[in-house]
Amino acid sequence: MSQLLCVGTVAFDKIETPFGKTDKILGGAGTYIGLSASCFKGVDIGVVSVIGEDFPEKYIDIFKDRHINLEGLEVVKGGKSFFWSGRYHNDMNTRDTLDTQLNVLENFKPVVPPSFINADIVMLGNLHPAVQLSVVDQVERPKLIILDTMNFWMDTTLELLHKVISKVNVITINDEEARQLSGEYSLVKAARKIRDMGPDYVVIKKGEHGALLFYNDEMFFAPALPLEEVFDPTGAGDTFAGGFAGYLAQSEDISFKNMKRAIIHGSNLASFCVEKFGTEKMLDLSENELKSRLENFESLTQFEINLT
Ligand code: AMP
Repeated sequence: MSQLLCVGTVAFDKIETPFGKTDKILGGAGTYIGLSASCFKGVDIGVVSVIGEDFPEKYIDIFKDRHINLEGLEVVKGGKSFFWSGRYHNDMNTRDTLDTQLNVLENFKPVVPPSFINADIVMLGNLHPAVQLSVVDQVERPKLIILDTMNFWMDTTLELLHKVISKVNVITINDEEARQLSGEYSLVKAARKIRDMGPDYVVIKKGEHGALLFYNDEMFFAPALPLEEVFDPTGAGDTFAGGFAGYLAQSEDISFKNMKRAIIHGSNLASFCVEKFGTEKMLDLSENELKSRLENFESLTQFEINLT
């Protein structure tokens, strides 16, 4: 059985969108990655993260119900879990962070459990590059390391971020971050420059405008499915990454050709994530729903017309 190690925050989120607001609910990049990847049966998934004693048992059970290994989830006695709060603007593409409380994350030293040292695929969710580096240093020859990051780390700890980038095979970032990291406006040029920093594959997420995959001089584009309802984009990028990694792990094939399929699977999962607040839809997602939307993706991208 293929093993996938996921690293990322397991947290409390408080979200406001034009459609309403939540109390403190289950969130965190590691949570979305794990839930999304767990949609792919036959993959042994482990999460490396940290929580405080305030983290409710009912949330832990969500991971357990999905057979996600929690040996790498540290519980800090008397500690408080990471908390993030954000408010989306009317266009839902931009948001303001209202509050970030690192709490137990402040002194987090990740420990990869022995059972996952030989994981086939490592998915490094958005976290401090020092934490990501520590995980990279602990695992033994994974077939693929995928990195997700954000502009915050480019602003605050660029040197360390470059170090992580130089050690991974795939990077997933959004278009604005790709521009910031490379200093190039053209995403084609940006991807080329980022590949020169280390990763063979660059995935650029463009939110409701889909995702691009770059490899050597090849380029692949997958649209996002136009949706009737978008309630809350929180976690969409992480859900995409979890689906991408989960599919690659399940199919045990890390070729460029298969990565194209993985991009579609990631987009498919992300399209569900945004339809309800927080993780709500991800917790209530049937195999049939996934399958039928995948068919929608197929029909969306078929050109049955003669172009000449
Ligand atoms: P996304 O919408 O894909 O950017 O991911 C949102 C998730 O990232 C939320 O569930 C937050 O808990 C988590 N998050 C927000 N800020 C940070 C941060 N600075 N470091 C790690 N995770 C974060």
